[in-house]
This record gives sequence, structure tokens and C-alpha cells, in this order.
Amino acid sequence: MAIDLRSDTVSHPSPAMRRAMASAVVGDDGFGDDPTVQRLEVMAAQRLGKEAGLFVSSGTMGNLIALLTHTERGDEVIAGEQCHIVLAEVAGSAALGRVQLRTVPNGPRGALDSGRVRALIRPENVHFPRTALICLENTHNRCNGAALSRDEMAPVAAVAREAGIPLHIDGARIFNAAVAQGVHPADLVAEADTVQFCLSKGLACPIGSMIVGSGDFIRRARRYRQMVGGTMRQSGVLAAAGIIALEEMVGRLAEDHANARRLAHGLASIPGLACDAGVVETNILYYSVSGMPAPAFTAAMEARGVLVGGNRMVTHYGISESDIDEALSAARAVMSAGVPA
Ligand SMILES: *Cc1c(COP(=O)(O)O)cnc(C)c1O
Repeated sequence: MAIDLRSDTVSHPSPAMRRAMASAVVGDDGFGDDPTVQRLEVMAAQRLGKEAGLFVSSGTMGNLIALLTHTERGDEVIAGEQCHIVLAEVAGSAALGRVQLRTVPNGPRGALDSGRVRALIRPENVHFPRTALICLENTHNRCNGAALSRDEMAPVAAVAREAGIPLHIDGARIFNAAVAQGVHPADLVAEADTVQFCLSKGLACPIGSMIVGSGDFIRRARRYRQMVGGTMRQSGVLAAAGIIALEEMVGRLAEDHANARRLAHGLASIPGLACDAGVVETNILYYSVSGMPAPAFTAAMEARGVLVGGNRMVTHYGISESDIDEALSAARAVMSAGVPA
């Protein structure tokens, strides 16, 4: 099988997940009586120190439902210009939420400057939209997968609190962020009102994301999940994998981070490739090719059984240290062979 470093979304469920899925006790979650889904929702909320959780089918759906729940048509949302919500969620906030996104430049690690955020908050004026939500992303996908600390997020959280505006964290990889810093995930997101995280990336579930927040927020969010067609039936078969993810797959993320650093250092040593290994904190690394066109590099890697993104590689469950070494040998061979004539 190919060594697939395109994304952590390609990770396959673990044997324990498949067993749990096969034997899951299920009900109709549309009636609120799937006990496995309920268990996962309680567990997710507890892990992140919030009152309640909601199981949804994807991170994009989780962010969209959170946004719909936090805002009214015509509101404004402040977010980083490099964040996934702005760049890669099909403008769902505009198309379905009818809200306007107002962007702030991200710092090199994805953090937002609290002064710039404060400056964008709308005062009361008949001409102005209402600032209804502030969003942060952690880990920050586009900013080298950087794991923001609670201290780095705190100034923005303080601005949000002072202004009475809720704070949402797109924590697709929040457990990577917590593990990278050796902190408890609940401490990391203590100042956020709501968090979305993905079960289907480094945590290796086949499908699923969670939204967590207050009990009242999640009750309202359930109606929006229904509205976007996201209510599922015997979804305990999926939630069962989510429970295994939270119980067994969080600690091992450290392995993915070590593998990403190993990969980054290796790539940096290959002539014609560049990678700043010093900025790799979690399971995402960015690299560039100067020795040949990037598409030629990815095609030649694929021919050697290694799938990589055009400028990004991501480690995950199922990728071992020896896979990393194999990928590096392939990269070395590709670069020394050069572009085929
Ligand atoms: C992957 C990702 C999402 C969306 O999750 P999907 O499950 O792919 O819809 C949202 N935010 C960030 C930062 C992501 O990396």
C-alpha cells in the first residue's frame, strides 16, 4: 500500500474501532435515543470542559452549525485571513448563514493580534452590522500546523469577553495542539464558548466531528444540524469509533508529531527541497521544491509509492517511523534522478 502523506484525513480506523463499530448499541439519534452517540457527546464535552456536545458529520458542518447558532443574518464574524473557515468552507457562512466575514492577518503561528481584533468590533450604529462572533483556529492548518498556547489565545479571548462577543475555536486538530504542548485540552480551550474538533483526522475515525459548548448552545445547535440535513439515525456505529478515538488515539498523536519532525529534518537535508523543520510543532509540515517543478516531484514520488501534497505533508495513524524513512529515501532518489527528459 502507498505511504499516504497527503493528509491525516486518509487515516483508517483502528482494529479496536472496527470492533466497537460492529458491536455498537444503537438507536435512532433523530429521536435522541442512540445511547452510543449520547455517550460520545458527553465524553467529548467532558474532555473539553464544556457542558454538552453534538455529533456532526464533518468539521465543515461543525463550523457551519456553530456559526449559524452564534449569528443572525447580516451579522459580522471576525476571523483570521488564513483560517479554514475563510479559505476552504465554500463560503458557507455567506451562502447559508448570510453573515459577513471580516478578516484579520494571521501571525506566523496563526495567532490574531488582539488590538486588530478589537479595532474591527463594531460599535452601536445604525449603519453597522453587529459583530456576533470571533473565531480562532488551533492547530493552525495553514500556519505550519502551529499549536497555539492558551496564553497566545488569551488576549483575543479577553477582547471577546470585554465586548460580550462569543469565541469559537475551529479546533479540527485541538488534541494535536494539546498533546504538542503537554496541556489538558480543557485548559487550552477554557476561554472559548464553543469548539469544533474532527474525529476523522489524526484521531483516525472514518467519519465525524464534534461541537462542544454550553447546554443551551448545543440545544439550539441541534435545530441547525437538523436544518442542514445533518441529523443521522443509527449513528452509534460511527460514534463508537469516536469513543475509541478519545480513549485510545489522543496520546499517540505525539508519535505523529515526532514523525513529522523527522520527515521535516530529512527533507531539509535533500538538495533541491526546502523545509523549515524548526517550525514543525505537530503533524503538518510545509515544504517547497526548487530542483524541479512541484508537480513533477509529486508525480515521481507517487511512482515510488509515496503520496504527498504539492507543498504539504501530514503524518497520522498508520504512518510509522520506517514509513518516514522510506518516504525520505524516495525523495532523495527522486531529487537525485532529476526531471525525466
Ligand atoms: C479539516 C479542517 C476542517 C474541516 O473538516 P472536514 O471534516 O474536512 O469538513 C476545518 N478546519 C480545519 C482547520 C481543518 O483542518
